[in-house]
Amino acid sequence: MRGDERRKKGEIMREIKEVENLVIRKIEGERSSVVDLLRRLVRASKPQEEVQTQNIVKKELKNICKEIDVWEPDIVELKKHPAFFPEDMNYAKRPNVVGIMSGSGEGKSMILNAHIDVVDPGLDAYWKYEDPWSGRVEKGKLYGRGACDDLSGVVAGLYALKSIKEVGFPLKGNIIFESVVDEEWGGGGTLSAVMRNYKTDGAIILEPSGLEINPANRGGQAFMIEISGKGVHPRMSYQGVSAIDKAMGIITALKNLQQIIQEDQRTAVFKDFPVFAPVTIYGVQAGTDIPKVPEKCIFKGLLGYVSPQSYKEARQQLEEYVEKLASLDPWLRNHPPKVSWLGLNKEPSETSVDHPLVKTTEECFEYVTGEKPQVRALPAGTDASFLTKYGGIPTILFGAKGANCHTSNEYVEIDTIITVAKVIAVTLLNWCS
Ligand SMILES: [Zn+2]
Repeated sequence: MRGDERRKKGEIMREIKEVENLVIRKIEGERSSVVDLLRRLVRASKPQEEVQTQNIVKKELKNICKEIDVWEPDIVELKKHPAFFPEDMNYAKRPNVVGIMSGSGEGKSMILNAHIDVVDPGLDAYWKYEDPWSGRVEKGKLYGRGACDDLSGVVAGLYALKSIKEVGFPLKGNIIFESVVDEEWGGGGTLSAVMRNYKTDGAIILEPSGLEINPANRGGQAFMIEISGKGVHPRMSYQGVSAIDKAMGIITALKNLQQIIQEDQRTAVFKDFPVFAPVTIYGVQAGTDIPKVPEKCIFKGLLGYVSPQSYKEARQQLEEYVEKLASLDPWLRNHPPKVSWLGLNKEPSETSVDHPLVKTTEECFEYVTGEKPQVRALPAGTDASFLTKYGGIPTILFGAKGANCHTSNEYVEIDTIITVAKVIAVTLLNWCS
């Protein structure tokens, strides 16, 4: 490198350092607006209908990005894609919102992806303040369905972008911000963005990772098992076969399958978790209002698995296991349980821990917090595989810290949203310049 070139590079490095400190200070100064935006999103949220919350996101993005793209995923197109499974999905009032911040062109580009959809809140009575949509703040925590998973990600991403826009630093690579729907089930939001050709040199999914950097996550698919028994009046119970009893036997035995998966499939990035690929039963349906020996029991579950097992191999493993269990029972041998696969099918995703995207984020995390980040897999299903496997984009997950996602009293620690926004902003400055 010639002397003047070296001098020029040194100046650019100094300039980036100054801008980094400036965006960090800017985000720190936005604390109350961050809380306000998150609270508005929590209060406007509605499961399976995100048009309200996406309008809020769109309005914020209009002040940041010149180009905004809003569309409802097309179920007909999605069904043609090999990674899409739900048959009965409807995307009316469920738009994706994407904002594009264009760079000059010669730098690396990045997708920030966060999901705006939230799961059903369950019973009000189980929630603090008896309101899942309160957005109330107590001791630095903001409560509400979606507060952590993943409205915190949407807010952190928006404030990272906003700070970059305000400092006016000339980026070389594009930044694409995606606020997507349907992460909690089939993943049609993110997949539809991939099919719309939003592709970059790297992607950060802003899921609540608890400030960990997760370059990998497990896969998970939802299944349903139907058990038939023989229904009789209780006075002849000895002549009947209870479908509930038979189902309980299988549910208990599936814990052994879970154990087998933990022993056979564990890889280095999953070494810390007692159970990284669960077999979890999450719903049971059986019986009637009058006493009788029940003739039918249907239960639903989630099957976890990791690379290199494919979803087809994972399915086969569970189907064969259930078949083996049935073969040991005289009734089930002749009345085999019926296994079917539901729409949720998140494949595993893995980006190397040595990938520059992981390394850059690690360095920027350390610069912002003064601490080394925890780098390991996330033992949950996410949209990452749509980006890595089907979009060819190296992807990590990184986001805020909270608790009780998918159950009552979900909250997020507000401080961690600020930290995420700062780390993301600094990472973008380095990645896209
Ligand atoms: Zn999530």
